[in-house]
Amino acid sequence: MEVLTTIADVRRRLEPHRRSGRTIGLVPTMGFLHVGHMELVRRAREANDMVVATIFVNPLQFGPNEDFARYPRDMDRDQAMLRDAGVDILFAPPVEEMYPAPLDTAVDLQHLGSMLEGERRPGHFRGVATVVTKLFNIAQPTRAYFGEKDYQQLAVIRRMVRDLSVPVDVVGVPTVRESDGVACSSRNVYLSPEERAAAPVLSRALAEAEERIAKGQRDFIRLRAHLEAFLVREPLADPDLVEIRDAATLNEARAESEAVVVLLAVRFGRTRLLDQRVIPLPRSS
Ligand code: AMP
Repeated sequence: MEVLTTIADVRRRLEPHRRSGRTIGLVPTMGFLHVGHMELVRRAREANDMVVATIFVNPLQFGPNEDFARYPRDMDRDQAMLRDAGVDILFAPPVEEMYPAPLDTAVDLQHLGSMLEGERRPGHFRGVATVVTKLFNIAQPTRAYFGEKDYQQLAVIRRMVRDLSVPVDVVGVPTVRESDGVACSSRNVYLSPEERAAAPVLSRALAEAEERIAKGQRDFIRLRAHLEAFLVREPLADPDLVEIRDAATLNEARAESEAVVVLLAVRFGRTRLLDQRVIPLPRSS
């Protein structure tokens, strides 16, 4: 595995592969890798000739009161994991390489980027869409891999690719979980032992939603209220976002939706955990 820190080096190194028609799979991350990230890498490895992973904690997507400075980092461990997984190139640029000057250009999704998480984290998806666009332009991948855990992020990237005719196949990868159902996340290390023990309440709430929908529940306003009450029964959990949306558009879920997605963001102390589940609505014939 080659570790590169400049845009010019990535371009130089990938050019001959692109010219000879090899496929390139891109896995963008912020590092502090876990088995969820490695599943993205595995999927990229099995479908592409070249795998490029990136580690970049992107300041543009963090709000002023968020955890940019304290975001966990462990470059040596990350490099060993990516090397073992057969990654060809790791691009790990310093901030000055990606943003040598303040940007005057941004990729902004007016509707999809400002709802839900975007409403709670203003500018977050502008930062995500802008950095992902830069990474696409730097690596020019055939395919790019993103986790369903960050469901709205995946929707934003799919929509940006469609709207701007970006020549990349976006591949969504199902959420990888710990044995107790907690979605793997770099931010899980922030949790105290008590908070970590309480965290399975998210996946339990998702299972509860699935069960109620399977039993025919289609009043999503009531279901949402039920899930909120379910979550607050866990004393350490402070729900910030509990929504049931159309899985394709992220607009309000309707009984006619083909599938809904339950989106959760729950605070445990200073840590905010996300989880989601897509639930198909079977057609009643
Ligand atoms: P991050 O480093 O948190 O920005 O995540 C990098 C990529 O890994 C994003 O596409 C995430 O959605 C994805 N990812 C993070 N956690 C998981 C997980 N538990 N399962 C699958 N994908 C994940």
